[in-house]
Amino acid sequence: MEKSTNNPKSSLQSDATRELHEEIETRCRLNPEFARRIGNFGFLELEDSWGDEATIINTARISTTNHRLKNLGEFGDRDRNLLYHLLSHNHGTPFETVHFRWRIIAPIFVLRQWMRHRICSFNEFSQRYRTPITAFFIPDEQARTVDGFQVLTDEQTQRYEALMTSLHQFYQTEYQEVCQRLDEAEARGEIKKSRGGRNPYRARARELLRNAMPVSTYSDLYWTINFRSLMNFFALRCKPDAQQEIRQFADTAFDMFQRRFPLLAETMNRVLDERANKE
Ligand SMILES: Cc1cc2nc3c(=O)[nH]c(=O)nc-3n(C[C@H](O)[C@H](O)[C@H](O)COP(=O)(O)OP(=O)(O)OC[C@H]3O[C@@H](n4cnc5c(N)ncnc54)[C@H](O)[C@@H]3O)c2cc1C
Repeated sequence: MEKSTNNPKSSLQSDATRELHEEIETRCRLNPEFARRIGNFGFLELEDSWGDEATIINTARISTTNHRLKNLGEFGDRDRNLLYHLLSHNHGTPFETVHFRWRIIAPIFVLRQWMRHRICSFNEFSQRYRTPITAFFIPDEQARTVDGFQVLTDEQTQRYEALMTSLHQFYQTEYQEVCQRLDEAEARGEIKKSRGGRNPYRARARELLRNAMPVSTYSDLYWTINFRSLMNFFALRCKPDAQQEIRQFADTAFDMFQRRFPLLAETMNRVLDERANKE
């Protein structure tokens, strides 16, 4: 069986998969603290952020004073107390002034849960303009085991991999057949010649064939979110009752966030702990 995952030389790999392989390696090299692989093909990077704890304090102080912090270096105990007070008393809007942009490569079933978070923006890889990423999620030993009991056996996992591979192979075979018929029809002058991702005949074939792609298929997106909403995401998706695959991404995102904003992360954890103790 030819594996469609993690083997960049496989003939089943789409251009998108090969490009992502290279890009993940490059980003992990260039941004090692804030770029990380997750699972067999997953990836998360905190690409950029705007604002910091001083931005939040300065925004809140519009109500009461013209005094502003020039930068984080001026942050003192009064500011720490105000940061905590605002967050613990749900004074939410100052926390909407700090923004984050993440790059996420994750299986569609994880992204489907992720996209339930509406207060943020997503821009996703298109299976209409490109053929799918050919990598799909494969559960490792730990993901297949609950309390020491192997829920999915090695043999079952092999059958799962074979089925996923056959679906990707189905796509590739059918798509190649469409492309060949289109080339022939173009040569006979039956249809207009057109190249690139917007060729309407190829686009229609991609729109239909993508329906055969399983939710284990990886996708690639940008996620832009403000801190208030990110805190809600962490509160819901870092919890033990969140599915472990999205939790792995959420925990990694939290780790990156904490490295960049230690004070905000500490204040957030304090407030979340206090809320949990009240429940
Ligand atoms: C463990 C777990 C299990 C889940 N199971 C299911 C499930 O079985 N089925 C299912 O459908 N979903 C499920 N969800 C998804 C869940 O119901 C939420 O849709 C998801 O977590 C996003 O949370 P949110 O609405 O707070 O986030 P966002 O959509 O980002 O919203 C952030 C906040 O904005 C406010 N807000 C946003 N939109 C509105 C609105 N229309 N009206 C009023 N206020 C709004 C709310 O205060 C909200 O908390 C599950 C989530 C978790 C963590």
